[in-house]
Amino acid sequence: MPEGDTVYLTAHLLDRALSGQVLERTDFRVPQHATADLSGGTVVETASRGKHLLTRVDRGDERWTLHTHLKMEGSWKVLKPGQRWPRPAHTARVVLTTPKATAVGFSLGVVELIDRAGEDDVVGHLGPDLLGPGWDVEAAVANLLRDPDRPVREALLDQTNLAGIGNLYAAELCFISGVHPQTPVGSVPELHRLVRRAHQMLDLNKDRWVQTTTGDLRERERTWVYRRDRSPCRRCGTPVAVEMQGPAGRDRASYWCPSCQPLPA
Ligand SMILES: [Zn+2]
Repeated sequence: MPEGDTVYLTAHLLDRALSGQVLERTDFRVPQHATADLSGGTVVETASRGKHLLTRVDRGDERWTLHTHLKMEGSWKVLKPGQRWPRPAHTARVVLTTPKATAVGFSLGVVELIDRAGEDDVVGHLGPDLLGPGWDVEAAVANLLRDPDRPVREALLDQTNLAGIGNLYAAELCFISGVHPQTPVGSVPELHRLVRRAHQMLDLNKDRWVQTTTGDLRERERTWVYRRDRSPCRRCGTPVAVEMQGPAGRDRASYWCPSCQPLPA
């Protein structure tokens, strides 16, 4: 699942390619907007809020926002006119065409065309955005502590606490902080430090598509525990553990080192 830094980079990609451009053609391949047409509109900008993308389009007196979310498999690609699409056409959910570029949103989890005045309805529930201009450590920590008994990993994944952390960073943050993912968030020593590290991790990765938390960009060396189950821990050699954790129906693979991250007594 794409994390906040990937979404941030995607917003920049779309912003650079489309902002200031007039849309020659638009194609919304989702049932609720199948007849929508923004052609003739001018793209103002694309911004990210946590893992949400907001592409703003002015068309005459109309002020539209295209709200998209990558969810599990989604991606936006910017192509030159006539360039071959990198993913199957039937997975395209939105196509925005300008004289210079075609932006195609593939397998997007959310595609919603809304009045710009209603943006808060789709992103207003989010906690402080780790890569947003209003990033606020104190507010994020206070949100996390609203439910002190909740497992720390689950609390970090809850976008209403702080926005931008996905499965990779949740696992890596628990490892670097030496806490078991199931530790109640209220019992995490130095929670402020963990949250500051979250910001630092996303910030360090926000300008490239490859994510690393170890500082090593080689494919098999990028993470401490994420997707390293059964491999030796980079610190102590204990095999990394994996288990499905989280609320029923929304459980995800959780990775940790049983020695470096003992379950609290
Ligand atoms: Zn270890």
